[in-house]
Amino acid sequence: MTANRRIAVIGAGASGLSAARALRQEGHFVAVFERSTGIGGTWIYSTAVESDHLSADPNRKIVHSSLYDSLRTNLPRESMGFYDYPFVAVAGEEDCRRFPGHREVLRYLEDFARESGLYGLIRFGIEVVRVEMEGEGRWAVLSRRVAGGGGGGAADESEVFDGVVVCVGHYTEPRVAEIPGIDSWPGKQMHSHNYRVPEPFQGQVVVIIGSASSATDISKDIAGLAKEVHIASRSAPGGTPMKDPAHENIFIHSMIVKAFADGTVLFQDGSSAFVDVIMHCTGYKYHFPFLKTNGIVNVDDNRVGPLYKHVFPPLLAPYLSFIGLTTKMIPFPMFQLQSKWIAGVLSGRIKLPTQEEMMEDISKICIRKCNLLDCPKDTHTILTIIILNTVIGWQENVGILKWKSGGSSCFMQIGKTGLQSQTGSEMTGMMMIWSKKLMNISGTFSFRIKDCKFNLVILLMVRCVTFENFYILV
Ligand SMILES: Cc1cc2nc3c(=O)[nH]c(=O)nc-3n(C[C@H](O)[C@H](O)[C@H](O)COP(=O)(O)OP(=O)(O)OC[C@H]3O[C@@H](n4cnc5c(N)ncnc54)[C@H](O)[C@@H]3O)c2cc1C
Repeated sequence: MTANRRIAVIGAGASGLSAARALRQEGHFVAVFERSTGIGGTWIYSTAVESDHLSADPNRKIVHSSLYDSLRTNLPRESMGFYDYPFVAVAGEEDCRRFPGHREVLRYLEDFARESGLYGLIRFGIEVVRVEMEGEGRWAVLSRRVAGGGGGGAADESEVFDGVVVCVGHYTEPRVAEIPGIDSWPGKQMHSHNYRVPEPFQGQVVVIIGSASSATDISKDIAGLAKEVHIASRSAPGGTPMKDPAHENIFIHSMIVKAFADGTVLFQDGSSAFVDVIMHCTGYKYHFPFLKTNGIVNVDDNRVGPLYKHVFPPLLAPYLSFIGLTTKMIPFPMFQLQSKWIAGVLSGRIKLPTQEEMMEDISKICIRKCNLLDCPKDTHTILTIIILNTVIGWQENVGILKWKSGGSSCFMQIGKTGLQSQTGSEMTGMMMIWSKKLMNISGTFSFRIKDCKFNLVILLMVRCVTFENFYILV
């Protein structure tokens, strides 16, 4: 027998929208709380930045989005969209490229929300400030009108729901690198969360810490105006600093050893530079300040847990769930799979394993994952590496994928630390494997050679019994 429940969804970004749609399709009553005045979350670009550019001040006014003006997606539109609502280029639009700019993503999400009839479910300008269990399957949600926020809904209101789905994103609360000597270093520090445009870096010497998409994008964005850009990356080889083959003024170093009071920064490779700005492109923290679970769900060094398949805390399932915690995957289709799973479990149509079975699954995955990744920090990184090891028989740190593209030969090593470029060609590796049906796995690599982005779609029709993250949808 199935049940229809009253469900609160927190957040109207891509994950909240997909949750609202799936829950409503399943017959549940849905209320979406959104503290901003529009839908789209991350994809609402704002020129505003936080008053503290390192975002360390707990009393600062939060700016949700971390987008920079030049950002284009790092996934091709063909892979990025919801699986039943393709992200197609609109004829006559100014930009129909495969890797669209952020404004087009926002427009796509707005179209999705409008055509799915979701706007009426959303209470705009309302922030959830407290979520607390009142009894089994009863959650008190305290919400408050944001100063200056618009939209309907009540301010300072407490309401009881049968379930809560947390869809608040995880790219707003910055993580910064620890640098010996930084307190006496006189330059400016900031986090990529507060980077928007390159103009302020005209003629400056900038150190970018990190090697993920933001570090790669921002270093190129500012290289045209800055005097020098030094990238400090854990995955860079030791020895002498390397020059970026495509940019005269970008230098790639291993990590920073120390910052000094005279303004210099010393790198592990022995070189040093007199630096104006250190930009931390060092990622973000999971942060749920409103969630009160009596210690049942915790965030420990960026692991949210314990969570079954990154979604349900076994002790509170199915009444509390999270969407979108996983990283290194294709977000929108994953949000949909998670949403449908949650909606089906809440109605009773899909059964979860017992609490004990879920807890056992969590510890098994943790042990396996911690052998390969940096734990607990990488808990929510999808197990691409393990899957490839398992499916193709690669051993840890020796998986090499080779392909040719336009005369250039590319390699990618699948290693303990993730995906690393092994040639002069620069690459952003992004892969997601998901499964709609058991054992049917597809994946996409997006990679970049010089300034061109390429997409390689891989379909594997194999049996993969150790796949961590599939959702059974019927
Ligand atoms: C720089 C950058 C580039 C990216 N590039 C890509 C890309 O190319 N392709 C891709 O697929 N993904 C990309 N992503 C990932 C992107 O975050 C996801 O695609 C997706 O937008 C996340 O959606 P979400 O709904 O989970 O979170 P968000 O989009 O962050 O939405 C969360 C929403 O929750 C609301 N909220 C938060 N707290 C509360 C509260 N207490 N009460 C009420 N409302 C609240 C926020 O206002 C926000 O609207 C990128 C992310 C970043 C930061």
